[in-house]
Amino acid sequence: MYQLIDGKKTSAEIRQELSEAVKQMKSKGIRVPHLAAILVGNDGASETYVSNKVKACEEIGFDSTLLRFDASITESQLLEEVEKMNNNSEIDGYIVQLPLPSHISEERIIEAVSPDKDVDGYHPVNLGRLVAGLPGFISATPMGVIELLKRYNIKTSGARCVVVGRSVNVGRPLSILLSQKGMDATVTVVHSRTRDLKSVLLEADIIIAALGSPAFIKGDMVKEGAVVIDIGTTRVADPSKKSGFRLCGDVDFETVAHKCSYISPVPGGVGPMTIASLMLNTLQACRR
Ligand code: NAP
Repeated sequence: MYQLIDGKKTSAEIRQELSEAVKQMKSKGIRVPHLAAILVGNDGASETYVSNKVKACEEIGFDSTLLRFDASITESQLLEEVEKMNNNSEIDGYIVQLPLPSHISEERIIEAVSPDKDVDGYHPVNLGRLVAGLPGFISATPMGVIELLKRYNIKTSGARCVVVGRSVNVGRPLSILLSQKGMDATVTVVHSRTRDLKSVLLEADIIIAALGSPAFIKGDMVKEGAVVIDIGTTRVADPSKKSGFRLCGDVDFETVAHKCSYISPVPGGVGPMTIASLMLNTLQACRR
């Protein structure tokens, strides 16, 4: 029988720990962490993500600021706003919610964020620090996965781990983290050009799926006793839901779960951990 990796519960535990830390800071007269978010336009999913982040700040006792801009804002205007954030000593860390409108270069904006306030861990300096094994901000989703593995005492040392997906913000940082000293996994990264993906997956003690293809990984691709972490979150139309959609992971839970020792569900697995990791990064930014 598999054990469910409950990201909702673990995330609640982390938030509880964070609110204790905030109480202690307050009692010592120390300024509490302050997270800001820049939201451009009114994309539905982005609105939800940002409002969840603001809500999490409020619950924990962090200060939060939400700056909203119309989708017509120019790149140079947005760069000015980013610069203001960099120079605002009241703000410890901030995020620029992606995606940005197509007339704005996400790369240029990310590179303009001060690496010391880049709590999303997207800046090339922070990615470089990760590769070099130096302290820096680690992107929230990979960090959340590592936190789940640790808190569930899943042994990674010597384990064969296959990361499906090589994106700069998810698959690639995760593969680096898992192979670092301390985690010590033997990591294989697979992507859309990988030949015979199934045979690679069948060798894996740990599978981490981050490809964005609903229910792609089926039971016959997973060996008995494997640990499966599902990062995928794709909105799939579902008329029975009030929202009109449901979130679907990259793993076909029905056929995969019974083969696993541990499995994380979607929703309720990695998703809630992302916000908790962002809050951990903000506390770290404040303590610096
Ligand atoms: P992405 O940038 O689109 O990258 C997807 C990766 O998967 C690429 O490397 C791609 O290969 C690979 N891939 C696609 N189809 C494949 C296939 N059939 N076989 C093997 N590899 C395949 O996506 P992402 O930003 O990393 O996100 C991945 C998923 O995680 C999405 O569903 C996203 O919504 C979700 N996500 C969730 C959270 C959360 O908080 N839960 C956070 C971030 C992302 P190529 O490089 O060859 O194209």
